[in-house]
Amino acid sequence: MEESDSLDIKKERIRLGRIGVLNSHLSSNPNPMASEKEAALAAVPSDSPTIFDKIISKEIPSKVVYEDDEVLAFRDISPQAPTHILIIPKVKAGLSGLSKAEERHCEILGRLLYTAKLVAKQEGLDDGFRIVINDGPSGCQSVYHIHVHLLGGRQMNWPPG
Ligand code: 5GP
Repeated sequence: MEESDSLDIKKERIRLGRIGVLNSHLSSNPNPMASEKEAALAAVPSDSPTIFDKIISKEIPSKVVYEDDEVLAFRDISPQAPTHILIIPKVKAGLSGLSKAEERHCEILGRLLYTAKLVAKQEGLDDGFRIVINDGPSGCQSVYHIHVHLLGGRQMNWPPG
């Protein structure tokens, strides 16, 4: 990639991040997909605690659909499909995103996917479903605590946006 391209991408991220902050002050947004992208571009990748820590500790309420010692699954606050569930590890252990995965994370990564399958069954998604892991600003990640999106209940499209 040219250096000037990379500068343009950075400028676009800053511009969209500012729009995201402005949008967060507005009561309604006609295009939820745009606000997701804005939130992702405004988010700063880091290993710091996130809102998901407060969801794990139940400081912030969420609609939990599955929980065990290792993982928590709860409904997304801004669903992009009739069923939209997030599956997260209770201990982040450096996994702010998939790009931070190391060999030691293989067990929990498998556990997240297996939980997605269990929850899909529990939700009656017998015709199929979509699993998504967003990573980094270009991957539209807005919360830096690894999470698997389980989406279902409607026909998915390909390619994804
Ligand atoms: P990402 O964009 O990082 O892949 O996904 C983060 C997801 O977390 C988004 O789909 C967003 O709607 C969801 N989310 C953010 N804050 C909360 C919250 O406080 N509660 C719940 N249930 N979901 C949240």
